Amino acid sequence: MSLCSLRWGLLLLWFPVAALADDAVLRVSALPTAPTLAPGHVAATEAGQERAVSRVWLHAPRSHIDWYALRLGDDWRQATRPLLVIRGSTRAHVTVYLPPDYRPRSESVFDASLDPSFSHHAVVYLLPYDLRADQPVYVALGNPGQTQPIRVGITDVASYRARDLRHVRVSTFFASVQLSMVLVILCFWAVLRDRMFLYFIVYVCAQVVYAMAVSGELYALPGAALLAPLGYHTGQCMAALAAGFSIWFILAFADLRSYTPRLAAWLGALRWPFLAFAVIIWMPFLRPDAWLPNTVNLLLIVSTVIALASSWLAWRRGNRQAGFFLLSWLPLLALTLARVVQLMAGLPLPAWLEYGFPGSMAWAAVIVTVGLADRTLQVRHERDRATRMAQFDSLTGVFNRRAIMDRLRSAWQARIGSEPLAVLFLDIDHFKQINDSRGHSAGDACLAAVVEAIRAELGESDRLGRYGGEEFLIMLRGESARMAVRVAERIVARAAALRVPIGEHLIAFTVSIGVAVRGKTTSDIEALVEHADAAQYRAKAEGRNRVVVWRRESFALVVAR
Ligand code: GH3
Ligand code: MG
Ligand code: MG
Repeated sequence: MSLCSLRWGLLLLWFPVAALADDAVLRVSALPTAPTLAPGHVAATEAGQERAVSRVWLHAPRSHIDWYALRLGDDWRQATRPLLVIRGSTRAHVTVYLPPDYRPRSESVFDASLDPSFSHHAVVYLLPYDLRADQPVYVALGNPGQTQPIRVGITDVASYRARDLRHVRVSTFFASVQLSMVLVILCFWAVLRDRMFLYFIVYVCAQVVYAMAVSGELYALPGAALLAPLGYHTGQCMAALAAGFSIWFILAFADLRSYTPRLAAWLGALRWPFLAFAVIIWMPFLRPDAWLPNTVNLLLIVSTVIALASSWLAWRRGNRQAGFFLLSWLPLLALTLARVVQLMAGLPLPAWLEYGFPGSMAWAAVIVTVGLADRTLQVRHERDRATRMAQFDSLTGVFNRRAIMDRLRSAWQARIGSEPLAVLFLDIDHFKQINDSRGHSAGDACLAAVVEAIRAELGESDRLGRYGGEEFLIMLRGESARMAVRVAERIVARAAALRVPIGEHLIAFTVSIGVAVRGKTTSDIEALVEHADAAQYRAKAEGRNRVVVWRRESFALVVAR
């Protein structure tokens, strides 16, 4: 099967879903030579074979200029004026010769000078009200580089305007959805400063500019007329940029380097050619028009397949973000493939693809934004977990040394000179023996049991932390020395009454507590803890299983049990 018949086969598949328009039936003939055209003079060239069609697709030839004559089937009798509509002529040079004066006119969707009462979706020319069937419209088509066919039709201006308005609505809606997501992510970036957000912003912006350049709307924006002389190069540059930055983004977003290192390395390598193409497109001496668009499209297919495979694997390996990526990009990737096939096979652009494309880009932007929010939530969970781990002792669940010291310090600062502040320093007696005789896990069980016993005696505002091995610090707020000693005594009694079941045995143990209450002369919280420790040390010396209060004058007053 020749390439040509393959193309027409694909075209047949394409047609049932291609855009339907209420264009007038035209008689089309290819002209063997250029018509002789002079102002006011109706051309007189031998017309080639004529065919009557309702949709005219013209292929621009590579190396020469083709001439066509288009005539109405019948004289124009509709209430509104006929309009010549040329769609899809992004790269070809199209020159039209229109009745009545047959002056050559050659414009493209990139021209800022187009009639401002129409969108840039197509190049349109108003025809005379009384256009007759014997007044041909001549079209000269040239310039290699454009593969897809150009759609030419004559339609009435009122129904064209209605369609044009719908086109503007749809493309504006999709562009605004994407730009809204960009705004949201910009706010994320402003706060979180994660470079991944910037990749997203660049890639989506490039995508929006690309879509607007392709649909022509870009050039109708204020100031964008400056881009008009750059023609379709702007769109191509943006497409390459969007592809490059989307790879950057997906690598970071789905953490593909950790989940599928080899595929991620391939994908990462493909970023650079895309960025290079975005620059090369502006270098005419490299003749990019001849090879670049197809190369970009091929590379796009390759990177799409790798990105899909990589994120599929990552998702199967438990990566949530890769799942978001798949969900968001599947429609876009399917349509990208369809678009690439369409461009490379030179097929016309059907409406489902024309609007499905920006629609799926908008969908992708929304889902990825949700994915980014989800990722931020995960980061928050991780941070919370890290904070918990940094503050709490994993064995007993009470504050660790640093956290309890922080609490003591803030209590000290908050209550200088007002409420009393007491510190209890608790140490398990002969703990080493429990470890040695019953094993380390029995020791662990005793630590957990003593924590429960202490907690049972504490109030809402009291704090408990593990200072070291089997030493605990207790902060009692608003307790006088007498009340603090009572709490300490109750803890000592409760601990002595504990029986910790280990296998068939019940382990009993006692604790010693040193109490220190802030006095006028206590210099700082460290001094207060030292006092409590010294009192605990004294309790050990006095025989253990007791409470000793630190007193400045005598250092220790034994509260015998
Ligand atoms: P004293 O009555 O003088 O306090 O005697 P002691 O045996 O309790 O004193 P020492 O401070 O010498 O012993 C503390 C022991 O606590 C030593 C260490 O092996 C043990 N230890 C420290 N951390 C843990 C832990 O997380 N789990 C267990 N099971 N044992 C621990
Ligand atoms: Mg001990
Ligand atoms: Mg100890």
